[in-house]
Order: sequence, then C-alpha cells, then structure tokens
Amino acid sequence: MNLRRSPRSLTYDLAWASVRLGVAFLPAILFPSWLTWTVTVLLVLGVVFLIVAAFMYSYVAACPGCGGTVQGLSQKIDCVGHSCGHCKRFVEVERGRLVLTPPDRASDAPSFGVLLRGSPGELPAICCTCGAPSTRTQGFAVAGVSLDIPHCDNHEPSARLRKAAGRVRLEVASLRFAQALGERDGLDIVGNDPYSDAPARVPWLSALGGMALTGLGFVIVRQELPSKELLAGLAASAGAFVLMHFVVGAGFVVRRRLVRN
Ligand SMILES: [Zn+2]
Ligand SMILES: [Zn+2]
Repeated sequence: MNLRRSPRSLTYDLAWASVRLGVAFLPAILFPSWLTWTVTVLLVLGVVFLIVAAFMYSYVAACPGCGGTVQGLSQKIDCVGHSCGHCKRFVEVERGRLVLTPPDRASDAPSFGVLLRGSPGELPAICCTCGAPSTRTQGFAVAGVSLDIPHCDNHEPSARLRKAAGRVRLEVASLRFAQALGERDGLDIVGNDPYSDAPARVPWLSALGGMALTGLGFVIVRQELPSKELLAGLAASAGAFVLMHFVVGAGFVVRRRLVRN
C-alpha cells in the first residue's frame, strides 16, 4: 500500500493542461485586444492551478480494501475523504502508506460524500460532525433538495449540500453518518479526490457551442460595424469559456479510460 508516483497520470494531466492552454490562448491569438488578453490571462491562471494539482496529486497506491489502484493521491496531505473507485471504501494516507479510513473518523471538514436520489427524508440521528447521537437539526437546501441535518449540542453541523456533475451530494465530516445514510438508503458514497466531480459523459454540446461562438467572431469582423474587433473578441472569449468546459469534461472522461495504473 506504499504510495508511488504514476508517470502515466502525470503525463496525461500535463497533456490535458497543454490542450487547455491552447484553448486559453485562442481568443487573444484570433482577435487580439485588451479584452481577449484579459480573458486569456484568466483562463491561463486556471490551467496553472491544474498543473500544480497534477504534480501534487500524481501518486497512486493499491487499495488496502480490494487491491485496486487508487488514483490522485498526494504525499504531502492526508487525503482524508478520498475513496477507492473500485470498492468505494474511504482511504487515507498515513506516513506515506494508504490505509482504510477508520469508521469513527471525524474529519475537520465535510469530506465524506453521499450521492442523493431526490430527498432522503429524515436523516440518521447521528451528529454529522462527530458521529455521536444527534440532539437537534439545522436546515440546508440546494437545487430543490432540502434537508434537516442532525448535529449534537457540542458541534455546529460540518456539512455541505451541493450539486456536482448533475447530482446533489451531501458531504459531512463524520464517516459514521455518511456510511449510515448510504447503507440505509442504498446510496453511493463519493470521495473528495480531484476527479470526483467528473461528469459521466463528454459535453459535446459545449464543443459545438464553443466552435459556433468562435466562428461568430470571424463573421463579425467581416461586417461593417463600429468596434467590430472588440465584438468579435467578445464572441471568441465566450467561445473559449464554453470550449474550456468541453475540454475539462472530455478530459475527465478520457482520463478514466486511459489512466488506470
Ligand atoms: Zn478498494
Ligand atoms: Zn457532534
């Protein structure tokens, strides 16, 4: 269960980052202006973040639960909340080794996720922060799902309700709470590793939308319009954002197929 650096993971992420860099520079190269350069700089900053993450999370290790490979690990942080993609158990890094997360783990942030199907109704009477019996609840709501989240007298609820990759997920600090809810309702648990927000499908619509907006830029510069260069840059900038959405989504999907070691 020792961590090792995965050259394949790092190579893929750097290639992915280069494609994103290409998209980032599109508006500035096609229609140079202060507007497009501002957009390009913003997009490049996002890619720099990805490159840093690629190096930081380029470690893999065998899952102590099932032996399958767990991706996206780091030697610098404990990775509490990462889950094995094969057996779905939560794992964490302890002194350079990957271990199963103990069932009573209470993380200092909402790290353990449960993918909801609709509204689960009354939640298990367990403090979502520490895993002790709960004494009260606090209301949370997002995207049409509202929940009364249990907590105890000693803790504020350490929970987050959010929409990611088209599903509503509840994230809590107590593994005991997450596991109790998952088992009771047959819900999938989900980790907080860098690839957990990956969409299930390639967002082809964004590819089409991005190309259409960029094409619109070329149509605009040929018209007799005041400040047409700026307008064309605006269309190409919007196109780059939409195209970036495609590259990010497709990159996640391809990564899942390609990087398995
Ligand atoms: Zn496993
Ligand atoms: Zn508590």
